[in-house]
Amino acid sequence: MSIDKYKAANEAREAALCEPCRGIQRNWRKAPGHAELIPRQNWKEARDGRSVTITRYRCDRCGSVWDYENDKGNQHAGWSLPRS
Ligand SMILES: [Zn+2]
Repeated sequence: MSIDKYKAANEAREAALCEPCRGIQRNWRKAPGHAELIPRQNWKEARDGRSVTITRYRCDRCGSVWDYENDKGNQHAGWSLPRS
């Protein structure tokens, strides 16, 4: 994918977010999600030799997909929109 296409896809994804999704504080440990996020799957990934759990959610209101990364060693891990 070219940079422009990637940027356009990213902007479309941001524009599709519902109001509660827009309110989610990203990349901050322990920031809350919202009531309409439904967990779909989770898996583990390695981060600097640690194993962290990532949970993927789907918003029941707008259909957006979110990942929550639970990493005790990284204050800036948290909610993000996965790059697909
Ligand atoms: Zn939403």
